[in-house]
Amino acid sequence: MSFETLEKPVEFIKGVGPAKATLLNAEMGIRTLGDLLAFYPFRYVDRSRFYAISDISSDSAYIQIKGKLDRIQLVAQKKGKRLVATFSDSSGTLELIWFNSIKWMQEFLKVGTEYVVFGKPGIFKGKASFVHPEIDTLDAFFAQTHQGLVGVYPGTEKLRSAGLDSRGIRKIMRIALDTIDLTDQDFHHDCELSRYGFISRSTAISQIHFPSNPNELASAEKRIKFDEFLVLQMKLGKIRAQRKLLVVGRKIEYVGDDFGSFYHHKLPYELTGAQKRVLKEIRTDLGSGKQMNRLLQGDVGSGKTVVSLMAMLMATGNQLQACLMAPTEILATQHFQTISSLLDDMEVRAALLTGSTPSSKRSRILQELKNGEIHILIGTHALIEDPVIFKELGFVVIDEQHRFGVEQRYKLWSKSTIPPHVLVMTATPIPRTLAMTLYGDLDISVIDELPPGRKPIVTAHRYDYKRFEVYEFIRKQIQLGRQAYIVFPLIEESETLDYKNLMDGYDMVLSYFPLPQYQVSVLHGRLKPVDKEFEMQRFVTGITNIMVATTVIEVGVNVPNASVMVIESAERFGLSQLHQLRGRVGRGADQSFCILMTGEKLSADAKKRINTMVETNDGFKIAEVDLQLRGPGDIEGTRQSGLLELRLASLTKDQELLVMARQAASEILEADPTLEKPEHIRLAAFIKLNYGQNTDWSRIS
Ligand code: ADP
Ligand code: MG
Repeated sequence: MSFETLEKPVEFIKGVGPAKATLLNAEMGIRTLGDLLAFYPFRYVDRSRFYAISDISSDSAYIQIKGKLDRIQLVAQKKGKRLVATFSDSSGTLELIWFNSIKWMQEFLKVGTEYVVFGKPGIFKGKASFVHPEIDTLDAFFAQTHQGLVGVYPGTEKLRSAGLDSRGIRKIMRIALDTIDLTDQDFHHDCELSRYGFISRSTAISQIHFPSNPNELASAEKRIKFDEFLVLQMKLGKIRAQRKLLVVGRKIEYVGDDFGSFYHHKLPYELTGAQKRVLKEIRTDLGSGKQMNRLLQGDVGSGKTVVSLMAMLMATGNQLQACLMAPTEILATQHFQTISSLLDDMEVRAALLTGSTPSSKRSRILQELKNGEIHILIGTHALIEDPVIFKELGFVVIDEQHRFGVEQRYKLWSKSTIPPHVLVMTATPIPRTLAMTLYGDLDISVIDELPPGRKPIVTAHRYDYKRFEVYEFIRKQIQLGRQAYIVFPLIEESETLDYKNLMDGYDMVLSYFPLPQYQVSVLHGRLKPVDKEFEMQRFVTGITNIMVATTVIEVGVNVPNASVMVIESAERFGLSQLHQLRGRVGRGADQSFCILMTGEKLSADAKKRINTMVETNDGFKIAEVDLQLRGPGDIEGTRQSGLLELRLASLTKDQELLVMARQAASEILEADPTLEKPEHIRLAAFIKLNYGQNTDWSRIS
């Protein structure tokens, strides 16, 4: 036998007929033995302990009680009947109630007999009751029931009425565990894994369903979680390794003259240590002859742009073209301006291509791109369209990557016979554990240092009724020559409402800051690109004092003179969004402020978000809290990543195991990249079983 056993249908188990099998599949997606064994309890109840009826409270969990049946009564009700039994121990009395299986229960229950009942009690009109409890005669209980921790399985009404409540599941689980030779599931390197203190997989599977005590449960959970991470990391590691093995990349041995002259003559500041380190990592990649696929993580304002420019210059200095793709027109335009002015009078030519580039200009750009006269092309999605043909594309930068679909990334790849090197930059840091998994097929670089001289942004929380004071504060800053942002939330359900919300806000701001003394810009998604550009420019050039905007300004916008960021209805924003918005200020030499305005009523999560923002400026810390609050399922990109297939393991709670698994995976892959050695055959089969052959793992990122 082998892992194939696990692919047998659940009907293989005695007691599971076609009807139950169909139901298990329909209700819980359990089709095979493997599915069944991986159907884990969601909680455990200590069945070595009995409770007294008098101990029951409205928040009692699953408990068991030993007592005597005093009376049985069939009660007619509107629809059908219910069976009510009175049950007592020395401390009190309660009711046991059945709506289904009445006939069977009537035959089974005997007044005067002692039973053990088990379930989650309720209290109705001061009286405790169990609806559809598990019930055993005292003898049967001590003869059969697992006396340790008993698993409670997820269930549905349909499953319960087919006898597949937790008890029913345990019954077939027991048979399954007794029937299947679990030692066949062990990996050959299980003994190796014991150096981490892991029990074997077979032991873990059996103990997760029937642990005798909390220690057994803990070690079973640990092993199974590790395996989940291991499979994931093996898959990702394999893709990474294969890509390195198979995909040739252009070998760029020297950084070239463009890089050199920029570095020596143009770079307006000293690079931070972190920026230098990342450039070195990129340089090593480019010289390796393999295609680079690198994720650049860095907090807002950590200086990713100049790093990406210098990396692109390594390409242009080697007669290759580069492109930079940004998610919005505003951002693309801004990158173009920043990069053009950094390049100044250098021989390197950059061009901007977006959806709103006029067609005559567009065809000229396309022509010059094909000729190789344009060295760096900056733009939006427009870059990936078919007519965009490079002479020799060697380097691709994708900024704020998670907004681009994977297909889009591949389209860029295919614009060159030899795949270009790819540098992906994230907008907001994500926790290390998440990055390891979400972007597990990429190498990761981190800029963990801000340019010197930055004053940390002062963040405060103010309730709406203090708006007057907040706006007076803005007035003072304007008097000092600074500018301010006031951001209103997107109301996702309705574009109309969203617009109204912003426009009401705009009117309110205008009433505080009237013309002609004050100038106010407004920016939102409904504006035409030219109007956006116009409003943006008025703010950038300092004509307007205040920018009223929706989150269109969230990403990347750089106006160093802006020193105040007011976020209205801040409770409606997610943490990473708040952090991004805050990152729009604090870019100049002045002390900057971020003020989070909220109503007085805040949910616990909203409070946590606001407090986190007030307490720290560290994007990596904020990302950790975000992950804890939201769970990985809600974070962009996780859906394709296989993360949601983790059943037990948690990215937030089991970080240590994840790191171990990643380490183990890379050791295994290093020793045996194709998993062909005898000691890895089972592991390979296990991975295949869990994720299938056809899972397209290149879709990650
Ligand atoms: P982000 O990582 O958020 O994209 P940017 O690249 O926009 O950050 O950089 C933020 C600001 O910091 C820019 O104004 C840039 O000119 C400046 N900057 C970047 N690197 C340095 C440095 N080493 N020293 C001083 N200022 C720097
Ligand atoms: Mg940026």
